[in-house]
Amino acid sequence: MAVAEKVAKTGGGASPAGGGASKQPDKQPESLYEDYKKVQPKKISGFFRTLKNWSAIILLGVYFIGPWLRWDRGPGAPDQAILLDMSGRRGYILGVEFWPQEIYYLTGLLILGAVGLFFVTALLGRVWCGFTCIQTVFTDVFVMVERVFEGDRNQRIKRDRGPWTADKLSRKTATNLVWLVISFAVGWTWVIYFNDAPSTTLALLQGDYTWGVLGFALLVGGFTYVLAGFAREQVCIYMCPWPRFQAAMFDEDSLVVTYEKWRGEPRGYAKKAESFETRGHCVDCQLCVQVCPTGIDIRNGSQLACIGCGLCIDACNTVMDRFGLPRELITYDSNNNQVARSKGEPTGYRLVRGRTIAYAAIMLLVAAVMAFGLVTRARVDVSVLHERSPLFVTLSDGAIRNGYTFKILNMLPQEQTYRVDVEGVEGATMTVVGYQDEPVTQTDLIVKADSVGTFRVYVTAPRVAIDDPAMDLEFKIENLTTGETAQRDTLFAGPAPR
Ligand code: SF4
Ligand code: SF4
Repeated sequence: MAVAEKVAKTGGGASPAGGGASKQPDKQPESLYEDYKKVQPKKISGFFRTLKNWSAIILLGVYFIGPWLRWDRGPGAPDQAILLDMSGRRGYILGVEFWPQEIYYLTGLLILGAVGLFFVTALLGRVWCGFTCIQTVFTDVFVMVERVFEGDRNQRIKRDRGPWTADKLSRKTATNLVWLVISFAVGWTWVIYFNDAPSTTLALLQGDYTWGVLGFALLVGGFTYVLAGFAREQVCIYMCPWPRFQAAMFDEDSLVVTYEKWRGEPRGYAKKAESFETRGHCVDCQLCVQVCPTGIDIRNGSQLACIGCGLCIDACNTVMDRFGLPRELITYDSNNNQVARSKGEPTGYRLVRGRTIAYAAIMLLVAAVMAFGLVTRARVDVSVLHERSPLFVTLSDGAIRNGYTFKILNMLPQEQTYRVDVEGVEGATMTVVGYQDEPVTQTDLIVKADSVGTFRVYVTAPRVAIDDPAMDLEFKIENLTTGETAQRDTLFAGPAPR
């Protein structure tokens, strides 16, 4: 009920004390907020329902099977195809391994995902909301479970309004138990993307789980249960920010679900053999409203609550078929086409538009940068830190010594040997604490598989070679197995020349 209606019902806020003559009994003021009415979508079959089913099967299949796929990375490395190993600080997707310092790939993926969403929305409208969003998919699954135990829309509404009986209790219990099992499976699957799937699941079955792992599964599962079981369309209408700014991606050529008012009105009840010559094609059967998962009436125009699932189209098409009328009174089409159709003009679809070109260009650019980065990504990651305190030391023979901390990141699953050369200062030699005691200009450093080797390197140069308090010094590093090289420029500090 609208607020104004409620105000009118409650007397428009007039005070009974005003005239002093009111004898009305004291009443609790009625709330100005409408009570929540549970949306009970009716089952419908058709093209969009089939599309939604296949989309859900594929997405759920990928989600649930994903962590169980294996990928041989050699001895000592995890064999899970998709694994985000938080304790090992590594991410694995098939043959590609990501380190924390490569988080920019994740940024690239997020940009790609966001622009991809803009692109698809500009082309096809709210397909993300209607067919692929996890909220939509799990709500669909939960409604199907509800339908199995509690019947279709009318039976569910009737049962919900009726008293609590043993039958109602048992059906509700069965529905909720299955919801809980699905929710836990969702939560557990989420957790095993971060842990080895077989051993973590076996540990759970043997009761040998950690509370951190179980707690996280219960948290994700709990959200699934509440959001898909109870909040449902309210997530789309009130919680999700996406519907609020997706309108900015639409133009006159974007596909949207719309009721063709010019053809449907004036609406009204109709018998089967009735002529539709002097009236609209909408028979006001309400089927489009009954199947809608967000409970809206698309005949009132485009609405934020419409997730673009197309089920109202399936519903209306069955009605049109029954009356021998043309299908698509509710259409999934562009605004331009609808206007053209209403004028009897030819229709067409423009894929190539300014905004679709712009989104596609951004996606291609980001994908190309990421692909280039992946192909050319350095396997030798070295940082050289010049020690600041002290900047240099004058040895007893007058030579000048500088200290450096080397960090060499070995991203490979085998131990690697790195050859280091020092250049740039005449007569400079180096020693490495715990590795190389004799002064040399070239030394080999060994770094274990999948780890960071830290080395303390001292470079010593004769006093006569120092002609500047900050001379350029160069370290050249070569991986002796892969042949990859890196160069780090730093400075060699010394006293001011005499
Ligand atoms: S109005 Fe139609 S397309 Fe929009 S959410 Fe409802 S059933 Fe889906
Ligand atoms: S299903 Fe079609 S005919 Fe029935 S009320 Fe909706 S728009 Fe009208």
